[in-house]
Amino acid sequence: MAIKDQPQPPRFRQISNVLLLLSGLFLLANIFLPNLFGPQIPQVPYSLFVHQVQEQDVVRASVGQNEIRYQLKGEGDKPGQVLSTTPIFDLELPKLLEAKGVEFAATPPSKNGWIGSVLSWVIPPLIFVAIFQFFMNRNGGGPQGALSIGKSKAKVYVEGESAKITFADVAGVEEAKTELVEVVEFLKTPDKYTAIGARIPKGVLLVGPPGTGKTLLAKAVAGEAGVPFFSISGSEFVELFVGVGSARVRDLFEQAKKQAPCIIFIDELDAIGKSRSSNASFGGNDEREQTLNQLLTEMDGFAVGNTTVIVLAATNRPESLDAALLRPGRFDRQVLVDRPDLSGREAILNIHSQKVKLGPDIDLKAIATRTPGFSGADLANLVNEAALLAARNKRLAVAQEDFFEAFERVVAGLEKKSRVLNEKEKKIVAYHEVGHAMVGALMTGGGEVAKISIVPRGMAALGYTLQVPTEDRFLLDESELRGQIATLLGGRSAEEVVFGSITTGASNDLQRATDLAERMVTTYGMSKVLGPLAYDRAQQSFLGEMGNARRAVSAQTAEAIDKEVKEIVETAHTQALNILKENRELLETITSQLLETEVIEGEKLHNFLTQVKPVDQVSAVV
Ligand code: ADP
Ligand code: MG
Ligand code: ZN
Repeated sequence: MAIKDQPQPPRFRQISNVLLLLSGLFLLANIFLPNLFGPQIPQVPYSLFVHQVQEQDVVRASVGQNEIRYQLKGEGDKPGQVLSTTPIFDLELPKLLEAKGVEFAATPPSKNGWIGSVLSWVIPPLIFVAIFQFFMNRNGGGPQGALSIGKSKAKVYVEGESAKITFADVAGVEEAKTELVEVVEFLKTPDKYTAIGARIPKGVLLVGPPGTGKTLLAKAVAGEAGVPFFSISGSEFVELFVGVGSARVRDLFEQAKKQAPCIIFIDELDAIGKSRSSNASFGGNDEREQTLNQLLTEMDGFAVGNTTVIVLAATNRPESLDAALLRPGRFDRQVLVDRPDLSGREAILNIHSQKVKLGPDIDLKAIATRTPGFSGADLANLVNEAALLAARNKRLAVAQEDFFEAFERVVAGLEKKSRVLNEKEKKIVAYHEVGHAMVGALMTGGGEVAKISIVPRGMAALGYTLQVPTEDRFLLDESELRGQIATLLGGRSAEEVVFGSITTGASNDLQRATDLAERMVTTYGMSKVLGPLAYDRAQQSFLGEMGNARRAVSAQTAEAIDKEVKEIVETAHTQALNILKENRELLETITSQLLETEVIEGEKLHNFLTQVKPVDQVSAVV
């Protein structure tokens, strides 16, 4: 796919460049010409001039404001030398000259003086323009700069031989692909559809979390369709100046209509398409609103005639889009581009690992199993990390263990060998992690405990317990959520059981446990006391991603919610404590092993954890 910029003559900029060049030449000419072409007059200090006058060596002088030229006495027929000096403010000079019999006069104004005065008017504004342009270029970006204001910055992708992206490069989003194959069909053979009176859809909106391949899919459409493809990002419409964005939209559609059938792709549509009511609290954003209005107008406009222009757009925040964008006739088709499922992940890993050399032991399926919730971009990153690790370990091909190490890097952060813990801290961290692992081994819902490590990693983790899912889960039941909470509290509980005191290391665990418990009560309606009511409410406005706010509830209800949350967390805590107390010996055994080897995983860990006895079974024996 070749990318070329739209051939836009940036007229204003050309003119200003010419002016700049001319003024530069004038300036240079003014400085150098008199010296280049006029006689070379030696410069002397003023004191020498005065001395020469006093010695009566000077015949005549021409006194100007900035220069005094004077001629020395000649010898015989030869005229004397002409010298020049820069005057100081000296009121006595005329008297001195007269006294010494020097013939003197003021310098007549230079014939070229008018050029100087014209330049002094012309140059400063030009310099100003130059500075302005410099800054606008830096801000506005792009080779065309800001002085091509209003011109669309769209890039046109045309079908080319090199690096063409097709649907084969995208995996794990089969439904989206099916929809888009149809879009390609519309563009290639519109008659097939119009013949039976079907209206070709105008707008297709790709919706999905970041990194799931929306932009990639759009490029694949371009690669497959073989029609011009105008691509622009929503943020490029939004400019400082009111009216620029809408001018760009108008321009873009004008160009597109000329080249129909073609595709317009607007990436990050939410940058312009934000709901108009949602920012009313800030007094509105005129520029964005105008841009959006223009987009709506254009999308309504090009239906007339038989021009086939399909507008493709992508966003990861469909809920924030203005309702007017989504109504029939505009972006009436929404294509969900979701995170891939197990087989999708395997397919994506397959695509991306084609570029790297894989060792014989690679099992992509096993990697796909470990990575639910990963997006396509995450997986691409994972493959690359693994390849980097293999290169660092001086392997010739990527091994499975590189993938696992890369996975840990991605989920837990980089190893921080430099963070040295003292013996006591190390012990606490070890008990803490073994606590997580042992409780997690008994609880369903969190996945299988695959590794315990007390090698510090990432920003905050002093140690970590890695739980990997055995399958993709879309629904969790109440007991599984309670199990997750107990597992989160397992670390702190171990500290309590062993040391009778707790450290600051568990604060993140508590945060997550409490969040989970609160969601059980307020979002999932799992509390018997409060019933199946949703007490939280998704915020629609600018607070959007900052979490959910509670519905307006009575003080009693708020109190009841708090009580229920506390109840859930405390029950889980007791459960974790009991498990660890009953398995105290095992806790000691695993911890001393962990302190020795710093990492326990695989078979060994599995053998340890199968020995954990469930609490009720223990109490039944006792
Ligand atoms: P989005 O636009 O949805 O945020 P991108 O399309 O920019 O995501 O994806 C970023 C990169 O991640 C792509 O260039 C590609 O390498 C990889 N990627 C994402 N999704 C997929 C997928 N479904 N199949 C293959 N590669 C993918
Ligand atoms: Mg994108
Ligand atoms: Zn912990």
